Amino acid sequence: MIPVVGYTGRTVGVLGLGRSGLATARALREGGAKVVPWDDNPAAREAAEAEGFDCQDLSKSTVAEMLDALITSPGIPHLYPEPNRCIAAAYDAGVPVDNDIGLFFRSFAQSDWGSFDVMPKVVAVTGSNGKSTTSALIHHVLTHVGRPTQLAGNIGRGVLDIDPAIDGEVVVLELSSYQTELARALTPDIAVFTNLTPDHLDRHAGFGGYFAAKRRLFAEGGPDRAIIGVDEAEGQYLAGQLSESAVDDRVIRMSVDRKLTSSGWNVFARKGFLSEYRKGRQVGSIDLRSIDGLPGSHNHQNACAAYAVCRALGLAPKVIEQAFHSFGGLPHRSQTIAKKGGVTFVNDSKATNLDSAAKALAAFKNIHWICGGLQKDGGLDELLAHVGSVKRAYVIGREAAQFAMQLTGVEAQVCTTMGAAVKAASEAAQEGDTVLLAPAAASFDQYDSFEKRGDDFVACVEDL
Ligand code: ADP
Repeated sequence: MIPVVGYTGRTVGVLGLGRSGLATARALREGGAKVVPWDDNPAAREAAEAEGFDCQDLSKSTVAEMLDALITSPGIPHLYPEPNRCIAAAYDAGVPVDNDIGLFFRSFAQSDWGSFDVMPKVVAVTGSNGKSTTSALIHHVLTHVGRPTQLAGNIGRGVLDIDPAIDGEVVVLELSSYQTELARALTPDIAVFTNLTPDHLDRHAGFGGYFAAKRRLFAEGGPDRAIIGVDEAEGQYLAGQLSESAVDDRVIRMSVDRKLTSSGWNVFARKGFLSEYRKGRQVGSIDLRSIDGLPGSHNHQNACAAYAVCRALGLAPKVIEQAFHSFGGLPHRSQTIAKKGGVTFVNDSKATNLDSAAKALAAFKNIHWICGGLQKDGGLDELLAHVGSVKRAYVIGREAAQFAMQLTGVEAQVCTTMGAAVKAASEAAQEGDTVLLAPAAASFDQYDSFEKRGDDFVACVEDL
């Protein structure tokens, strides 16, 4: 645990008592704060009370007025579409609102660091897609080379739940736009921006707000190195803003669209080969095609990002390449879960938005595509440019018929349940085909989470 500094003897509200909220409450208490937790869910309050916390309804103005700060969980809207009522009460009372990420950056450095040979570092990864895979891959490479490392944030443990850093440790944080938008301190040593495509627009009042939330990671903290995906205009703009000149190697640009030829520091992947160029010269390369845990150009982007971080930390290209080979991939992300009768079954349940589903469709051939669920705003039209490898779609979800109707030009079968979809897809699939779960939709109409949906897919495939 990282005890929170700066709040000794002060009263701090903690809103949302899930995994990170409870860890925050404990870390605040350890730092000497008087913690006032709250969660609308009685079961979550009971869990906190079992640990000796006294829950109080933070939406009451009398409670909000007692607070010196309110710390909120990422899933709770703090601004759009409208502030949660507890957060609105804090705003009314003039109480600053922060999150565990802000507390972490203020509390991470410890007095014993003076005796360390190598200062601990924080790597923070944001972007629309690929955050988890990139963060896990960086953590994997560091573990492979024996460097002390911990993985936290949106993946792994809550940030305040990790152990205090030891000599030379690297903490890898996955940060969502909800987290970067609110944190009052954001000071990573190395920050990564993977890519940007529309998502969570209701929480940020549109695309501009969404980009602004992610951009704070770079604008607020001034990381020593910024690794920026420049395949979208927003990434190009951000890289330009952070560079003093074209040769400024504080910024490492990365692309999976094109060769980057500027005289700065560049990492790009083309036709399955990763290349690193510095000052116009190639200094490293990796053949990514033979790395099973990183299929498709989207994973090559993640490989570029992780490679750049590891290079910025001083690792040699050959060592990084060796470590990539033993990366098994993350569950529910382009994960090959079975091969039966020459048919490959791939679980990409995490493909909840159009871009990630499009990337999965581009990564495989002869696809029997299981899709559908709780659709996000904006329709499916953008996806239709990417369905060239689809032999047939098998649509699940409560609104399966409506989803199927939007798949113009694709032969689509309304299956509704995962069991029916897996059965139909496996019966139709021939040797060399891929049965791919890449829903392009959230899971909440039928499942508690994308993980549960992926687990159901795996169970249905096992039952075949
Ligand atoms: P995040 O943590 O940003 O949601 P994940 O690594 O969990 O990212 O991947 C989420 C989904 O996006 C999965 O379906 C995965 O296959 C896909 N994906 C992974 N990396 C990328 C990328 N660089 N670009 C687009 N899609 C990606």
